[in-house]
Amino acid sequence: MSQTLVVCPYCGCGCSFYIEEKDGRAVGVTPSTDHPVSRGSLCVKGWRAYEFINHPERLRSPMIRDGGLVREATWEEATDLIVENLLDIKEKHGNDALAFLSSAKLTNEENYLFMKMARATFKTNNVDHCARL
Ligand code: SF4
Repeated sequence: MSQTLVVCPYCGCGCSFYIEEKDGRAVGVTPSTDHPVSRGSLCVKGWRAYEFINHPERLRSPMIRDGGLVREATWEEATDLIVENLLDIKEKHGNDALAFLSSAKLTNEENYLFMKMARATFKTNNVDHCARL
């Protein structure tokens, strides 16, 4: 078995643990005892944070609904489509027809940038975060 020190991807607390790897597959986690946030502890999500890595249903690329079917797309294609649709909605229905929902998986800094994008770029206060639900 080998270990790789990582930051938990499940929320912005930023706990740290070692991914335990055996035969090229993630098989468990061990909390980092000297990390200033987690100090050797993890919540129930953190203890399971290795299971999605090799999950057969894990999304590994953006998906686009195209003609009634969902297909894989490149990140460039997906972001171009998002921008095109956001600008189209804004032009047809106004800024407040848009709403932005962020994720607890982002860092505080990423969430701040997301909020700035909604308020400064798209001129709407319709921005929220899943941790408030
Ligand atoms: S999901 Fe749990 S273990 Fe992971 S960073 Fe958040 S509090 Fe820490």
